[in-house]
Amino acid sequence: MKPFDYTRTARASEAVRLVAARPGATFVAGGTELLNLVRDRALAPDLVVDINQVPLSGIELRDGTLHVGAMARMREVAEHPVVRSGFPVMSEALLASASPQIRNRASIGGNLMQRTRCWYYRDAGSPCNKREPGSGCPAITGQNRWHAIHGGSRHCIAVHPSDLAVALSALQATVVVLGPRGERSIPLKDFYLLPGTTPHKETALRHGELITGVTVPGSRSARHSRYLKLRDRAAFEFAVVSVAAALTMEGSEVSDVHLAFGGIAPRPWRSAEAEAALRGRPLTDSTIASAAQALVSGAQPREHNTFKVELVRRALADILTDLGGRR
Ligand code: SF4
Repeated sequence: MKPFDYTRTARASEAVRLVAARPGATFVAGGTELLNLVRDRALAPDLVVDINQVPLSGIELRDGTLHVGAMARMREVAEHPVVRSGFPVMSEALLASASPQIRNRASIGGNLMQRTRCWYYRDAGSPCNKREPGSGCPAITGQNRWHAIHGGSRHCIAVHPSDLAVALSALQATVVVLGPRGERSIPLKDFYLLPGTTPHKETALRHGELITGVTVPGSRSARHSRYLKLRDRAAFEFAVVSVAAALTMEGSEVSDVHLAFGGIAPRPWRSAEAEAALRGRPLTDSTIASAAQALVSGAQPREHNTFKVELVRRALADILTDLGGRR
């Protein structure tokens, strides 16, 4: 492990200034992700700026919109009564993540900045275009059980690991960031990038920009939302496939629906086609089957992950049946 400089500050603007001034600098909050990556030699920062004292941990509802500070811890957000009642998919996604110890420590901003769990990325002895651009992608022909069936490229087929990001995608959240040129807001749908020819670029963040919070619009659908995570063991495991759904029914018809999927793509995956197959229609087995088919149409499974196509279809059917029955 390469040694790095360490400093800390209680001011967001100072943290941004320090990181922006050095190309090899990065932020650290809970440390549950960054320190693993440094230890695995997937990242080698030369300066780490500790932002734990920056006052960005508020969780509040203002004019119907939820504001969550980037330094709020996963457990605090998951257990907050406003989140549990108005945005249950967020709470469920957080509680399905990591372990109680990590949820006590890890920040919301850090959760959104998690890097892929692709084993080649975290094995410094393997080539990997994401860790070392141009070195190759052994997952394409190697062990790809965990990898993408949508959105990959011949340069990278890794999947995004954050459950919270999937839930926030279904809620149409916005990420608020502070950078050397001031504050800006990035809709979550534009925050994560597809790999294309540059898999090392995972987000729309510029160097030195710090996530300061997320905003989530409240709605009937947000109140009637759920997260379903399918994984290899019941705790402390990443999603093989996950679904976040927010749904409003008028009588027997779906009037509003927002879906996002984890474990199947390099970013939280949206399917406008699946949503269109549901909107304005009764929530019958046949409608659900059409939505599931629209979701997997165009999927490109690899040698070891063909099962994800059927798994995500069934996961979508399960969550919609459950939400439809709960109204
Ligand atoms: Fe690296 Fe992406 Fe290939 Fe995994 S899938 S080895 S992260 S380039």
